[in-house]
Amino acid sequence: MKQLILAYERVSSDEQGKKGFSISEQQNDIETYAMKRGDIIDRHYVDKGYSGTTMNRKNVKKMLKQVADGNVKKIYIKFANRLSRDDTMVRSLRKVFYKYKVEIVSINEDWAAEDDNADKKLSCDLVSRVDRAEPERAKIRTRAGLMMSAKLGNWCVPTVRLGFKKIPNPNSTVKDSQTIAPIDEWRPTVDKIVKMILDHQYPAQKIADILSGANEQNRVWSAKDVLMIATKPEYSGEFEQSYFKSVNHHEGFYSPETRQEMIKIIHGRRRVKKYVYLFKGIVFCQECGGLLTCIPTVKKRKGKNNVMTKTPVYYYFCKECNKRINESKLLEGVLFSYEKRLLMNPDVSEDRKRLIKKIIKIEDSIENLEEEYFDDLIDEIYYKKQRTNLLRKRKQSEKALKEMQCEVNDWKNLSRVEQRKIVKRCLKKVMIDFKKETPSKIATVELKE
Ligand SMILES: [Zn+2]
Repeated sequence: MKQLILAYERVSSDEQGKKGFSISEQQNDIETYAMKRGDIIDRHYVDKGYSGTTMNRKNVKKMLKQVADGNVKKIYIKFANRLSRDDTMVRSLRKVFYKYKVEIVSINEDWAAEDDNADKKLSCDLVSRVDRAEPERAKIRTRAGLMMSAKLGNWCVPTVRLGFKKIPNPNSTVKDSQTIAPIDEWRPTVDKIVKMILDHQYPAQKIADILSGANEQNRVWSAKDVLMIATKPEYSGEFEQSYFKSVNHHEGFYSPETRQEMIKIIHGRRRVKKYVYLFKGIVFCQECGGLLTCIPTVKKRKGKNNVMTKTPVYYYFCKECNKRINESKLLEGVLFSYEKRLLMNPDVSEDRKRLIKKIIKIEDSIENLEEEYFDDLIDEIYYKKQRTNLLRKRKQSEKALKEMQCEVNDWKNLSRVEQRKIVKRCLKKVMIDFKKETPSKIATVELKE
């Protein structure tokens, strides 16, 4: 098979407009350069909009696959940093290309091969190390520009929220600079919202319903709209971005103090919602023996109709070892081995309870039998016979239990409070193996006969 001569071009979204960096410029330069050296490019691999700090780029991966298949002779690039901006990655790429005998031709002469001398390799590594910092520095420059603009009172955020309009900035001498100002017709609406929160402490959804009912501003209101108007800094004339904060940045609807008051009320309302931890106080770290603390993390997810919903994710965290486990993983492990015990719900019928106890007894017998056999206390024939017997009994009981299932609340259908009650009644202590992300030891409360 013919060995290919490839070219690789990459441009990140930040570099798009930079001279010499566009894909077509890179391609033209490479074609010309290769021609001079008597080469014809068989195929171009292009990654557009990808950063050089990651190797998770669609076409570089495809190209490396070609390399690993041994189909490649040469790869043309314009700059070494097109392949990678990460010096450790550059070093491993160097080894890969050396292994598969691929020659890298960089127009900028800033690529070192594995068999180049140490000086060349070092200087190329240094360049790529500096390169890595470059996008960071560009970001800092952009931020500095934004900060200057915000300081002058300009609205340098792309979004203009409900109730605001863009106006020329009276405080800036720079041409075309814009700021935002409240739309006068919106003042009564925002006043209503403020009143409903401060005087009545209505929840956001109720306020939204009232506003929609009154056809306020001819629109349908959501709780999110209400929360936005009550808490976002621009409504109190404040500017709050990571690069710059200021009060009195532009004209707002109400004072910063009013905003703080509303945030307090809304926050207080939110805090009422308590997180129920199924395993609070009973999970321990296997490594250090410490009790795990509970930390809720709120995750935003796209739910029905593309509406963002917040769902808490429950974690158990070992401060000592700095490791955490997701509750669903933990639950999975516990349910896997102790489902029957966990389902000892008080509402469960007596029959079911009896069956569950029976199954647990059978399982204990199987365990005992196995131990006896391994301790040479019983012979193989007896062991096999007994084991088959027990397994058959277990299967029968489980089948019967399954048939009864409809009488019992399924675990998933129980509320978290109910689940918590069951866990508390059935489990004494759970040890967590963070390496396997699963419970390693589960101590159960003895079942009362
Ligand atoms: Zn630990």
